[in-house]
Amino acid sequence: MHIDPNHDSLSYWHATQESMIPTDDLPATAEVVVIGGGMLGVWTTYWLAKAGVSVVLLEKSAIGWGATGRNGGFLTSGTAIGYPSLIELLGRERARALWEITVHGENLGHEVVSEEGIDCHLRRPGKLLLALDEDQLADRQHHCDLLNEDGFGGIVLDRAATQEMIKTPLGADITGAFFHPTSGMLHSTRYLAGLARTAVAYGAKLVRAEVTSVHHGKQTTISTTAGAIEAERVIIALNAWTDTLVPETRDVIVPTRGQILAYEPTETVFTTGLGAEVTPTGEYWQQTMDGSIVIGGCRAEAPGKDSGVINMSPTDDVISHIERVIPRLFPKLAHLTVARRWAGPMAFTPDYLPIVDMAQNAESTWYAGGFCGDGMPFGPIISRYLAEAATTGKLSDDVSMLAVSRPSLAR
Ligand SMILES: Cc1cc2nc3c(=O)[nH]c(=O)nc-3n(C[C@H](O)[C@H](O)[C@H](O)COP(=O)(O)OP(=O)(O)OC[C@H]3O[C@@H](n4cnc5c(N)ncnc54)[C@H](O)[C@@H]3O)c2cc1C
Repeated sequence: MHIDPNHDSLSYWHATQESMIPTDDLPATAEVVVIGGGMLGVWTTYWLAKAGVSVVLLEKSAIGWGATGRNGGFLTSGTAIGYPSLIELLGRERARALWEITVHGENLGHEVVSEEGIDCHLRRPGKLLLALDEDQLADRQHHCDLLNEDGFGGIVLDRAATQEMIKTPLGADITGAFFHPTSGMLHSTRYLAGLARTAVAYGAKLVRAEVTSVHHGKQTTISTTAGAIEAERVIIALNAWTDTLVPETRDVIVPTRGQILAYEPTETVFTTGLGAEVTPTGEYWQQTMDGSIVIGGCRAEAPGKDSGVINMSPTDDVISHIERVIPRLFPKLAHLTVARRWAGPMAFTPDYLPIVDMAQNAESTWYAGGFCGDGMPFGPIISRYLAEAATTGKLSDDVSMLAVSRPSLAR
């Protein structure tokens, strides 16, 4: 497939980095086959190849063709729901353990990028989650207090302190912000392509092939558009496409379109990442190294919140609301020109937490998906658990709270 960087459906990240299309031939066998070349598949491949395992990654298009190459580029610990809601869902101890897993994932991301010398514009200036009225500020304070009680960082800023961190006058709505000090930002496709190249240097093979079925026998046979391959163990890393190969996730991992755009580069006004809730489903943005502001969100403005939609094209109903966010919050930036609009496939679960499990009736196949718009901190760490399962035959109890059988997913 030829990928044209000027095509509308490509993201800012695709357009500013040459796409990495797998070119290896499909071997007949491998110890482990990983399906899906997004962050989860590439990270799993990296860990396995580094450990000396013979591993083949199968990707139907290009590395980062799905959500990872179309996202907001945040590497921020935490879950899609705030800490108070997570505690309500899981209880204090398990909420703390899960949050800790995401902190570990965030830190691992930084460690490996640094150790392997991956040039992906990764920086760690923190993230401001703005409050737009007194109620939102009180919510931010509650989230922050609980995090601090459990030893996680964060601070709530008033309007004046928030203004000191943003180099353009705040609009009238902004009452303050929660500041997450360790939050990072990166260039999504440089990150993933750099990690994929590192995995290749450790011996991984990357093959362009769409998997059509996985047949479980003594050995597992994976049928693809490029032929068949046999493997001892299989990892399925398809997020929004999980149900195509793991049918038991059909109603619990729901593809959901996320829409996003990039403005033409401008002088630096935002050095941290930012988030807000202008609409109930939220917005997020960062200013990249070339001065482009990349902003997404406003799913609440789509019919059915774009739930069930797996489509890479943006729509006017959502995009027009995203285009109003920066002018409303920062009136001096109302002149910015949109350079590119795109969409990507998120995947949501009913309780807003990912699923990590063994595939039903398949003792040598594991999968993870349903990252609910906040997958990046999970990538480096969930992949390590999957790589461990692929080498030991057992998925760690650390992630048993994310099993598909958990009560909060009951249908
Ligand atoms: C607009 C948007 C903004 C987001 N912003 C952020 C953010 O800033 N921070 C954050 O933490 N999270 C964010 N997310 C969520 C995050 O990007 C995802 O959770 C994460 O990228 C999922 O990674 P993945 O590897 O599981 O799936 P994907 O990246 O979607 O990768 C799956 C891959 O599988 C391939 N594939 C599909 N079917 C087959 C098949 N049959 N055979 C072979 N290959 C196949 C696809 O081509 C794709 O490359 C955002 C998502 C979107 C869409």
